[in-house]
Amino acid sequence: MIDISCYWDDRGYILEQKYIALIDCDSFFVSCERKLNPDLNGKAVCVTSGERGCVIARSKEAKEMGIPMGQPLFMAKRDFPKCIYITANHSDYSDISHQVMSVLRDISPIVEVYSVDEAFVDLTGLSKLYKMNYYKLAEHIRKRVRDESGIPVSIGVSRTKALAKLASDKAKSMESHICISGKCGIPRLLKGTSVDEVWGIGRRLAPKLRGYGIKTAYEYIQKNDVWLKSRFGKTALELKYELMGNLINKVSNKKVLPKSISNSRAFEEFSSDLNYIKNELMVHIHAACRKLRRVDCKCGTIGVMLRTKDFKVFYDKRDLPMTNFEFEISQSAYPILEAMHDKSTLYRSVGIVLENLHSNADSQLNLFDKKGSRREKNEKLAKSIDKLEEKFGRNIIKTGFTNKEIPAKAEFLIKPNECND
Ligand SMILES: [Mg+2]
Repeated sequence: MIDISCYWDDRGYILEQKYIALIDCDSFFVSCERKLNPDLNGKAVCVTSGERGCVIARSKEAKEMGIPMGQPLFMAKRDFPKCIYITANHSDYSDISHQVMSVLRDISPIVEVYSVDEAFVDLTGLSKLYKMNYYKLAEHIRKRVRDESGIPVSIGVSRTKALAKLASDKAKSMESHICISGKCGIPRLLKGTSVDEVWGIGRRLAPKLRGYGIKTAYEYIQKNDVWLKSRFGKTALELKYELMGNLINKVSNKKVLPKSISNSRAFEEFSSDLNYIKNELMVHIHAACRKLRRVDCKCGTIGVMLRTKDFKVFYDKRDLPMTNFEFEISQSAYPILEAMHDKSTLYRSVGIVLENLHSNADSQLNLFDKKGSRREKNEKLAKSIDKLEEKFGRNIIKTGFTNKEIPAKAEFLIKPNECND
């Protein structure tokens, strides 16, 4: 029997007890659509990957109707015609995710963004700072995220990341959407969790464990260290300790730079019109640049992808001086597009890929960039656009190279006093 009540390091000191939360947005894509259109509240809604795609997110009401996750859209529409189907808009979701993470960063200095809708937050010590217990603190986090970003979340709090993840899964089915599992609650939590549900065990490992008679997470931690390590490796052993409440993987707020940033979407109708395709490309360049600036990066290589009606893909890339500005990227992207384009071919989508990413903090200053240079002005302009869009919504500013419809209110939004830069 393993004692999981307290832990000592090899010098006999009690190890620090951490309080780690996993904040998981509820039905994130659907919640985003409801934030953008509150008429969807209380209705059965599915978000789909596209007109010829499948269901990728469901509201509670859609789940109750019995719509399966991953069902092709044409089948879902045929079997459940009363549900509302919306094509995913990942740029919107990324903006809203950013708002959620900003609220979390305001609460704790240690936030690890795990995915677009999940983040680990180290709450250790915050109970004293906020003068409330960890349950009240979780309620406070839920309320702030809801009030400030409009997104409902479930929260699991425990001693390690693996346990916090399990607790948050339990929280989803609880009325309060909060599950706190302190050291006394760990055995109960593990006994009620099958090995398939454990974060990190996955589909390949679970059947093997079952083959050895290990059905629950509690049975998993009973296994001897040597046995676990020799059969399943070091990670499996570390997972055992995480499940016992020993912190192996710290919450890290180190920024991990993406390898590349891309943006693409199918046209509303197939087209061979070069101007239309250029405009679409510009929309993607703008979205990709926003992402690039958000992670405080510049790119040194761009790629343009053009897909024909028959799914043939053309792709070409080119190096350019480090930049995160739309105009500089489009100047290099348009010639690539023009070289690939054939006016007798119908195309279904265009996209941009930004590669060779470097953090602004690491990038060298260009010796020839004087104060007030064009590059500096461009950077200020881009920041102003981002600020205005954050305040008033995306594509609020007509950038001069897109003929996309812009909301009528844009006219009065762009006043000189709004553009302080
Ligand atoms: Mg989620």
